[in-house]
Amino acid sequence: MPRMTELANFLKNHDDYAVFGHVNPDGDAAGSCIALALALQALGKRVAVCLPGGVARMYDFSARSVEITPDARPSFRPKTGFSVDVSEIERLGNGRALFDSCAHTAMLDHHATNPGFGEVYVVDGDAAASGELAVELIAELGVALSEEMARWLYIAISTDSGNFGYSSTRPETMEAAAACLRAGIDVDFITRELYRTRSEGRTRLMGLVLSALEMDEDKRLCWSRVTGEMFARAHALREDNEDIVNYLLEIRGVRCAVLAEERDAGTKFSLRSKPPLDVASEIAVPLGGGGHACAAGLLLETGVDEALEKVLPMARAALDRLERAEGNA
Ligand code: 5GP
Ligand code: MN
Repeated sequence: MPRMTELANFLKNHDDYAVFGHVNPDGDAAGSCIALALALQALGKRVAVCLPGGVARMYDFSARSVEITPDARPSFRPKTGFSVDVSEIERLGNGRALFDSCAHTAMLDHHATNPGFGEVYVVDGDAAASGELAVELIAELGVALSEEMARWLYIAISTDSGNFGYSSTRPETMEAAAACLRAGIDVDFITRELYRTRSEGRTRLMGLVLSALEMDEDKRLCWSRVTGEMFARAHALREDNEDIVNYLLEIRGVRCAVLAEERDAGTKFSLRSKPPLDVASEIAVPLGGGGHACAAGLLLETGVDEALEKVLPMARAALDRLERAEGNA
């Protein structure tokens, strides 16, 4: 039996769900979890969505008619845990204990680095977003896409595929988006909210991060930092930092971008690269992080300067290896 059918059968046969996204849930985690929870609700199941820290404010434009808990405290005792877009069990964050306490567990994800966990799971590293897989799963469940499900799925797929622009975008990505359009979503409104609207705090934080950027002489590697003091000065929220690293990568000639964010627990890195440089396997995974080939992250339990001294030489070495290989080609 195909794995997705097996997962759908499992979901139909269980009840009292907690659907879990990863820490600092992004558009794909929030959107996929909410859409799948709505689909389970449509099947008459009891469902709560556990999104550590809650849904980012930038998604306030999209209504959600399902219970969402930011601290893994649903209003009922879940029997079945369903992890979605979580690349490894540790990334369940404050949901981990509740997930582990569930009598049954399932998982759906699109991170190629996911080692696999749960009784029944589907991991498809070729999918551009977990939302793409969620569209397929909801069809397998025999649930018709409501406008609300489709809106969240479109948010998931659009945000994780770089609005259908990253190399991860494949025909199936467009087909999943097409299914959302057929369900009656307003693409113009969603796109404006996602990409042409930002808070004052994010705008000011962008200014601070961009004016602090640094580069090597050869201009292949660009990095910057974002400190607690910068967040305060910009009146910005933690979420306002999301994807600002992309602006560093967008500088012509830059092949690798590194943004170091000061956190209570240490330094959180956002790594971005232009293909074929693979920052997940070259930098993130060896240092205990993970992610995708061209968008990865990790956390080091040291201050920003010390952490940069560890990460930047690895980035330079990876670039040297790549350029040697290109020279030999
Ligand atoms: P971002 O830079 O946007 O925080 O993360 C980029 C990608 O790297 C995302 O797909 C995210 O799942 C992954 N990622 C970020 N931080 C970590 C981490 O600490 N551990 C792992 N395994 N993956 C991470
Ligand atoms: Mn994702």
